[in-house]
Amino acid sequence: MNIWTYNGLDNIGGYAQFPGLGNANTDGVAVIFNAFGRVGQLLASNNKGRIATHEIGHWLNLRHIWGNTNCGDDFCADTPTQFGPNGGCPGFPHVTCSNQGDMSMNYMDYTNDECRNLFTNIQRGRMRALFAAGGVRESFISAKIQQLATQICGNSTFSVAQNQGAVVNYQWTVSGALSLANGQGSNQITTTQNGTGPATIQVSANGYCETKTVQVGAYAATGRYINDYQEQRLVASTYALDPNFVTNGYVQIGLDDIPGTTNRFTLGSGQPHSLYATSNTSASLYYNHSVNYADVYVTNSGGPCGPITTWFSFYYPTTYSYAFSPNPVMDDLMVQAQPEQSSSMVQRSSAVNNAVNISEEQAFIVELYNSQGMKVVSQSSKAGKAILNVRSLPNGLYNLRIGQGKEAKMEHIQVVH
Ligand SMILES: [Zn+2]
Repeated sequence: MNIWTYNGLDNIGGYAQFPGLGNANTDGVAVIFNAFGRVGQLLASNNKGRIATHEIGHWLNLRHIWGNTNCGDDFCADTPTQFGPNGGCPGFPHVTCSNQGDMSMNYMDYTNDECRNLFTNIQRGRMRALFAAGGVRESFISAKIQQLATQICGNSTFSVAQNQGAVVNYQWTVSGALSLANGQGSNQITTTQNGTGPATIQVSANGYCETKTVQVGAYAATGRYINDYQEQRLVASTYALDPNFVTNGYVQIGLDDIPGTTNRFTLGSGQPHSLYATSNTSASLYYNHSVNYADVYVTNSGGPCGPITTWFSFYYPTTYSYAFSPNPVMDDLMVQAQPEQSSSMVQRSSAVNNAVNISEEQAFIVELYNSQGMKVVSQSSKAGKAILNVRSLPNGLYNLRIGQGKEAKMEHIQVVH
């Protein structure tokens, strides 16, 4: 905003250019020298700078309380209708136009500086509306966020127009799938992608605030697979270890639905398994035992970053070691499984994803058989271990069977109470 001061003009106290009228060279307010500011040779009635306040009110689209005509309208419902301008310092109420008293203390009357002290809420709203979207002075502070894309892939830059000649501290808040990398305080920031989904960018300056929401990619497929024991596991990582896989050779894959995108399922090149997509987000994998791993590729298309391919591997380690204790056992026998990590397994995983978790628990079944070959206790593992309660079993020698099919192992256990 431009502010001028002058001497002359028939002692007119001040004047202003209304928003949207006139040209940029005269867009501002002017105040006579002896009513300008609070120091120097000032008129006794105008020594607190209220003429500038009044003129800036006009510059911000406010009219005089009396609407420039007798009992006129200033377009603010919370100011009373009043006959005309007041001067000096009138007492209250000064009733005109059947009101309950003129609002002579409003900055948009003509009273002495010391007797003017308020704008109303609606006047405030009228002023602020100029800077809101579609307002005449929107571009003045606003600073619309200059990032037209509503879908964003990766790191990005957001900026607002720099106010001409003004030193403005722009405060940015970034939340959701983006985070602020640098540029706080300036009119341009860079952001880092830290997830997928919506992100909110907010900038405030001079009490004005602008918000923008964007969608952030890349969308990589995430979801779950279901093994033989109907256990649901995440397939978010590119590597999944599922030793149950081999027992009936069937895995169901269910992915999270990303609206507007499609998934294509493919098997690793040359792998002898069978893979069938059953919907946009699900597939069935039938395992061929001649190869001890199966790779499933999911290509997700339609997201902001274009097609993204995610790789899931299902692996069956051929050997396991089981730790069990104590033996002899009195009350609880704990059995814990660790897949023996073959070199091929480590190699395959590290080639694609270094952050591979190969210590995922193995699910298995443990059974205890008595000396007559009868199964007396059976227990499924949870989180890689199974606990067998033998408190009610008679003392004696038992066979502990761990695992299923040809992978099962037998151990001798002694129960002693
Ligand atoms: Zn005026």
